Amino acid sequence: MPKFEYAPAPESRSIVSLRESYGLFINGEFGPSVDGRAFKTISPATEEVLAEVTEAGPADVDRAVTAARKAYEHTWSAMPGRERAKYLFRIARIIAERARELAVLESLDNGKPIRESRDVDIPLVAAHFFYYAGWADKLEYAGYGPAPRPIGVAGQVIPWNFPLLMLAWKIAPALACGNTVVLKPAETTPLTALAFAEICQQADLPPGVVNIVTGAGETGRALVEHPGVDKVAFTGSTEVGKQIARACAPTRKKVTLELGGKAANVVFEDAPVDQAVEGIVNGIFFNQGHVCCAGSRLLVQESVYSEVLASLRRRLATLRLGDPLDKNTDVGAINSAAQLAKIRELSDVGEAEGAERWSPPCELPVKGFWFPPTIFTGVSQAHRIAREEIFGPVLSVLTFRTPAEAVEKANNTPYGLSAGVWTEKGSLILWMASRLRAGVVWANTFNKFDPTSPFGGYKESGYGREGGRHGLEAYLNV
Ligand code: NDP
Repeated sequence: MPKFEYAPAPESRSIVSLRESYGLFINGEFGPSVDGRAFKTISPATEEVLAEVTEAGPADVDRAVTAARKAYEHTWSAMPGRERAKYLFRIARIIAERARELAVLESLDNGKPIRESRDVDIPLVAAHFFYYAGWADKLEYAGYGPAPRPIGVAGQVIPWNFPLLMLAWKIAPALACGNTVVLKPAETTPLTALAFAEICQQADLPPGVVNIVTGAGETGRALVEHPGVDKVAFTGSTEVGKQIARACAPTRKKVTLELGGKAANVVFEDAPVDQAVEGIVNGIFFNQGHVCCAGSRLLVQESVYSEVLASLRRRLATLRLGDPLDKNTDVGAINSAAQLAKIRELSDVGEAEGAERWSPPCELPVKGFWFPPTIFTGVSQAHRIAREEIFGPVLSVLTFRTPAEAVEKANNTPYGLSAGVWTEKGSLILWMASRLRAGVVWANTFNKFDPTSPFGGYKESGYGREGGRHGLEAYLNV
């Protein structure tokens, strides 16, 4: 198949005006930290320093929680839902208006292709605010009692893979239900959360309703362990999720955890191969595989294994890796040096344990953090690359003969966040969906998200649901 050569098509970054340094957003204003500490955020594609960001210590977290408490008691929880809705609609509209700027900023700070931040992340961010704005004055019809009450101050900690989208998943339902929030973005991707703080100012959101404290893991720990926090919402690794569950167990805090995954993408012999291959690619190479629900384990029925693999290899050879701001780029940069080291280490383990590694010919840029799209075949269930979350563009391929074997292998994981099924038979889809222990099961598609649809895990993938009507429950006293 001929490979087309594309001229560069870079998105201009002039729409973004980066400040040299950013303060903490507490009580409606940007300001310094108590101890004056700061860290730098870089572009993972070039290692260029983008800005200096203030590091919040325990005293700053305390100020933020106090501001959120005051706003909760005196303003936000007492405001009628229809008034809260107006603010949320205003925020949603400003996000839509500033969509291009936010998309460029997200790609700069995170390394994801502009095609994804522009067409997936930011439209979904706006959609979440529009959706939960609609719930704010209808909570009594949500099925949680005639007069559902908010919980109080929410402490929210989010990861770096979908920075602004994870913020929207957390803040939109919290505010719609009448809670106030203190949110900590990931250390490597704080810039869109700080742009969101500006949007709160632009929307005239009352001071203290949203507070953004930037910093690393210690800031997150200070937030979730703060006694003034009533509700903890966390998305990130299972390891940190367990620490948070332990810290909150002796308290009255309500906790939701959205953790890791090792999803099976199951392809049956009657599946349309070309569509399935697109779904496999979207399942694991979307966002460089930095996706908790990524289809990182491909289970192919043995009778079509050679055909699917040949087609997959051909398709991978057409993926374009490089500048995240180029509109033709499919695979961007790995988010950090630490994540790149983890992907390399687990891939080396895969080879050492006997699996066969393959990547298409692909030139990696010299600067920045990069890893080529990679497939491992000859993988057994005992291999670490079949069990552990790699969180990178690495696919482990296994085979099966019968639907029962597919279910057994798909469920043979400590996780249970998502799964995919590819077949022409509706009855087989339903049979599989009722047996797969996963919060989301996609049929003949993968990695599709919508604010109306609940999302969350089984087993070590966490508990609680985000999104849809179910997502309200986490922020109501029910
Ligand atoms: P973490 O779970 O460490 O980070 C998630 C968020 O929690 C970040 O904001 C982080 O801050 C913060 N945090 C870290 N330690 C604590 C703590 N003790 N208390 C409260 N908050 C804390 O994920 P990593 O970024 O370290 O990634 C490690 C692995 O986790 C990845 O390789 C991947 O496998 C998995 N992961 C899964 C995600 C998912 O969506 N399921 C998302 C991200 C990672 P900071 O980043 O500033 O240190």
